[in-house]
Amino acid sequence: MKNDHGQPSTYANYKCRCDLCREAASKYHREYRKTHRNSDRATSRATNLAAKWVRRKHPKVWEGFMDEAYEHIGAERKPVGWHR
Ligand SMILES: [Zn+2]
Repeated sequence: MKNDHGQPSTYANYKCRCDLCREAASKYHREYRKTHRNSDRATSRATNLAAKWVRRKHPKVWEGFMDEAYEHIGAERKPVGWHR
């Protein structure tokens, strides 16, 4: 075994479970999860924002997509209270 303790790769590839390697691996996974969670959140925020802009700037396009989407999921589109 390569004596490279404290690397996530040593934990993963050499299955070393010493304190240094376990710590390195758990830190690595923590960072990995954090990064991915943030990017997921950014993606969904951007998607929501883009949808909002389409709805505001291109209402006819939005209406068309909404009709299509409702048709696609096989649900009836309820009249929404835009103009309250
Ligand atoms: Zn180790």
